[in-house]
Amino acid sequence: MFTRRNWATAAEVVAVKRRAFLGAVGSMASLGTLAYTTRADDPLAVRIWLSERAGRYDGVADRVRAFLARTLALERRRVEPTVGGTVSVSTEDAARLTSRGEWPLALASGGLGGRDIDPVSGVNLLVTDGGMRDAPTGYGAPHVASVGGARHIDRLESVDDLLGDEWIVPTTTAARTMHVLLHEVGHALGLAHRHGVAVRSGDAVVATPMLSSYAWDPDFTPSSTRCGGAIPSTDGRERRLDFAFSACARRELAAD
Ligand SMILES: [Zn+2]
Repeated sequence: MFTRRNWATAAEVVAVKRRAFLGAVGSMASLGTLAYTTRADDPLAVRIWLSERAGRYDGVADRVRAFLARTLALERRRVEPTVGGTVSVSTEDAARLTSRGEWPLALASGGLGGRDIDPVSGVNLLVTDGGMRDAPTGYGAPHVASVGGARHIDRLESVDDLLGDEWIVPTTTAARTMHVLLHEVGHALGLAHRHGVAVRSGDAVVATPMLSSYAWDPDFTPSSTRCGGAIPSTDGRERRLDFAFSACARRELAAD
């Protein structure tokens, strides 16, 4: 399928990349079916890679690992995030790297830019230094996710300092970046936007990871099957981020 003849026109390139992406995600999905049906006491495998630019920030991989270990932990399942290292990618545009197939293909083929890539059966997350202002800032599909914002994660407090006991924090760029990271990892674990919840809490509206900033987007159309009630109006209210996945998201994750 990948002969030179396939690359004749831009439309064909897109078509080939789309097929390749679907193929890659398909093979990742079949790989992961094993993980999703194993016993609950098996740890959930999550691996973090960084683009070369993201890799320039010393503490980013460890910070992401600590947040995933804390927020993905379920009562009956351990999470042991590992770091895969840095990879050479063609762009820092994190959404494009997954949606156009480069990152899923690298995982499926086991290599990128001459470097071996050893995917895990749970979530394979690529963090880049792409911008976090203009959506889409990341992308998640079964077992595959990518997100930008390494420079913001570099400035983020430790998981203990940020989350405290409540896990509900003000919306700073750095906190929102980590929240979006959890959102994309949630997609990689099979969660959808309908697993997100937003509630009034005092003078604030608080959104869980699978809704995240969609809770304040007037153009967002919530699924009729979503968890919880209607999304509260944010008129004049503080917008806060809950780093705990909603109860129904956690039930979904625990039901595997
Ligand atoms: Zn999403």
